[in-house]
Amino acid sequence: MDRKELIKLKCDLLINGLRLNELRKDLFEYHGWDKQRSESFLPAELRLPEEVNVQIRENSDANFRLRIIDNILVLQDRANRIVCSSDFLSLPPFADDKTSDGTSFRDIVVYNGVCNLNFTWNYFCDYFRTGNACRFCNLTPAQDFYPEENITNSYKNAVQIADVIETVKLYHTDPKVILTRGTPHEKHGLGGTIQILEELSKRFPFNGHKNRTKVLFTISPTKNINDVKLMYETGMHSVSFNFEVFDKGYWKAIVPGKDKYIGRDLWEASLVEAVKYFGEGRVFSAMIAGLEPRQTLLDGVRWCCERGIIPIVVPFSPETGSQFEGFRPPTYKWMMDTMLEASDIILEKLSFLSTAEYWRDEAPICAECFTGGFIYDIVKEKAGLKDFHSGHTMNKERNRSKQTGEFISLN
Ligand code: SF4
Repeated sequence: MDRKELIKLKCDLLINGLRLNELRKDLFEYHGWDKQRSESFLPAELRLPEEVNVQIRENSDANFRLRIIDNILVLQDRANRIVCSSDFLSLPPFADDKTSDGTSFRDIVVYNGVCNLNFTWNYFCDYFRTGNACRFCNLTPAQDFYPEENITNSYKNAVQIADVIETVKLYHTDPKVILTRGTPHEKHGLGGTIQILEELSKRFPFNGHKNRTKVLFTISPTKNINDVKLMYETGMHSVSFNFEVFDKGYWKAIVPGKDKYIGRDLWEASLVEAVKYFGEGRVFSAMIAGLEPRQTLLDGVRWCCERGIIPIVVPFSPETGSQFEGFRPPTYKWMMDTMLEASDIILEKLSFLSTAEYWRDEAPICAECFTGGFIYDIVKEKAGLKDFHSGHTMNKERNRSKQTGEFISLN
């Protein structure tokens, strides 16, 4: 399989999931795992060849399954043909470390790939309380559905987050951090953002635009558009005000809280304002492919790119606990065709995304470690960029399992 085929495989795995039961059987029958351990094994991410990395979404009807054959982890199709080898992504060497207040890193951060760190610093979103939650979102209810995961410790403070980043920097040449939260009580303010920014700039002083720690805040704009300037001046590296859906009718219906409390006009104006300070390449907006017609989604991609805003187009994945639980994502073909068209627009209008320099020096997300989407895999592939992880490396690796968090070995 060449890399283009592997990216298509990633699309299929994100849309249709992956069968794991045969793998559990292999672990129990041939690799000495006890029954309980093999039955509860739920790996988080998979590394396909050529650094195509993907989140694992278990589905017993999926097109592909994992097996261990001749001691090698492989993907098989429905006809039991081996399509490629694979490997589990590893927990980093610092995964068992603790912050200065004794909190385990496992309760604070989720690792994506080897470069991206995900902090949800507050699982509370007031839109769930007031009945305006975004229809696809399960942020607050997720705490009840996944009590065994590290999201149960729902609030992370600025010192804890900075402690983790400080440690990671000892192992990784350029870690990428995504910081997110639900909408705070007052709905129109910064809700803890400034405290985190102050702690980060104290811990990782910056002396100019270039050398800020790569932290992407995915938050709501506030009612006061001047806060965009404040965020930049307090040291924020980059920001994402997520549209989620672009068509204005769908926006009202699918993100009613954002519509009611911030409003579409201010949302757009805040994105445009952000580009004035952060510059092209440091302002983002996520859009979910599969919630609205392809054409309006692509209008949104174009709208962003024409204003220097990078769209983060992610495939719809119906979440447990969201109002769309039980829905299905669009077909593989719809998703693949849509992402290919979106990537054409991105490359045409934001030509800096086709340069190795952008991904190496500027990007707050590692393309290969963005395991829940594949738009940047396509963008880099089309641009002919083969410098996986953009030259940034992580020391030492061990295997990890999502559910148990334990280190695993196939033997
Ligand atoms: S604003 Fe919407 S997407 Fe964000 S946490 Fe609240 S409900 Fe979820």
